[in-house]
Parts: sequence; C-alpha cells; structure tokens
Amino acid sequence: MQNPALFHVLLDYLESINAPSMEMQRFVERWHRLRSHESFPCPVCFLAGEEQPLMALSAQGNAEPMMCPTCKTRYDVPIDD
Ligand SMILES: [Zn+2]
Repeated sequence: MQNPALFHVLLDYLESINAPSMEMQRFVERWHRLRSHESFPCPVCFLAGEEQPLMALSAQGNAEPMMCPTCKTRYDVPIDD
C-alpha cells in the first residue's frame, strides 16, 4: 500500500467526522487502486464525489502536513524515523 502513514491519518480524519462506514470503505478501495503516478486524493472531497489531489506542505517539526487546496482541510502526518 502507498504511504500507510498518510492513509491512517486520512482514515482517522474520516472517523472523526463520523463518515459513514460504506463511504470509508469506498475511499479505502480507491486508495488500494492508486497508481504510483497518481496524487493522493483528499478524503473529504472524495466523499463529496470529487477527486482532488492533496498538496504536500513543508515539514514542520515531526509532522508533514498535507493540504487540500479545494476544501482547505489539512492533515498532519507524523514523520517516522
Ligand atoms: Zn478536499
């Protein structure tokens, strides 16, 4: 699977906004079909029926934030070392 750290942050986010489990499942399946050249999709926009690529912001401390330019949701991904 691609970028498991980010994947977990996105799933936690979906849980925190009480996304329906069927919708979460749809996002999980989409993630597993990601090709290496594809951008990571924003889960909030995905649930709204759109696919918007997440943008990496510069790392801050031990987090690497990803931001959706469309809905402005920000996801803080911890950096593993
Ligand atoms: Zn978004």
